[in-house]
Amino acid sequence: PKTIFSGIQPTGVPHLGNYLGALREWVNLQDNATTDTTLIYSLVDLHAITIRQDPKQLRQWKKESLAMLLAIGLDPNRSIIFHQSDVPAHAELMWILSCQASTGYLGRMTQWKDKTANEKGSSEKLKLGLFSYPVLQAADVLVHRTTHVPVGHDQAQHLEFAREVANGFNHTFETDVLFAPETIISPAKRVMSLTDPVAKMSKSHANPKSRILLTDSEEVIRSKVKAAVTDSIDGITYDPERRPGVSNLFDILYHADPRRNDHDQAELVKDLQGSSMRIFKDRVADTVNAAIKDIRARYEDLVHDEGYLQDVAEQGARKANESAAATLREVKNAVGLA
Ligand code: ATP
Ligand code: MG
Repeated sequence: PKTIFSGIQPTGVPHLGNYLGALREWVNLQDNATTDTTLIYSLVDLHAITIRQDPKQLRQWKKESLAMLLAIGLDPNRSIIFHQSDVPAHAELMWILSCQASTGYLGRMTQWKDKTANEKGSSEKLKLGLFSYPVLQAADVLVHRTTHVPVGHDQAQHLEFAREVANGFNHTFETDVLFAPETIISPAKRVMSLTDPVAKMSKSHANPKSRILLTDSEEVIRSKVKAAVTDSIDGITYDPERRPGVSNLFDILYHADPRRNDHDQAELVKDLQGSSMRIFKDRVADTVNAAIKDIRARYEDLVHDEGYLQDVAEQGARKANESAAATLREVKNAVGLA
């Protein structure tokens, strides 16, 4: 039997990078799962508050993110979909694992180093939760005895840490209660920002033009793609080192195309070699729009269906609590807390 777990922060409407890098994979896994596979997908609101959030905004984003998970095709009868803070075992296991996790290892995490680079070492402003975030992430995965975690490339290091924590815990307490899970990285593992193509596309980036939201209309998609940073080199070529902007658009075009499995990316590059930037960008915008227009339409209906969203969240919380309680009990036993 397999257990698939993954999460997304309710820190804004999911973007094309989230979709191609993670969410689409969640749906594929669900749709191809055999009956002995458990699927668990979380809106990780406890992670969202590692940076300051406006309470009203956070509440709204939680609702919108849930509507989006349904709009992309997750089925609450097949997948457990829940808000992380509705399942206290996540935070509880995190504390127990915190007592095992090495601060040296945490300090070397790329995401921590990136997020703190701007603060110039002023540790007064840096929050403990941001530092220990990977421990909570480890708890998220381990508390459901996950076997596989589908995520984008930026989470690979955190999952390596989760495996380390699981193995360390088992070793220390001479148990096998925690499973070290496998990471599943999707082919579109790192969609880059449209305005700064050497950085990944992010929900939390200040410039809204840097990302295509799954709710963007066709016109908005077109205008964002049109404004995407490229370069002044003639023609269309694929060269991520020298031409990060153009190459990112190629990656987006390739991965958003439903026929991607019928041909390889080199063929697509060859086809487009002779096009102008305008025609190339039009093709990218058309393909992205086609890939997400049904999601957008379903989302518009779902987001207003408050009663249904609440039912889904309650049902998800109940099942996720059940799944987590069993592990937590054994962990407490192993440690001597129970
Ligand atoms: P934030 O800026 O708030 O961290 P985010 O865009 O990084 O937002 P997360 O909620 O942190 O989104 O991540 C959700 C999932 O999307 C993770 O599996 C992550 O690896 C994946 N992901 C995020 N950004 C990208 C991207 N640009 N390309 C591919 N996958 C991505
Ligand atoms: Mg992120």
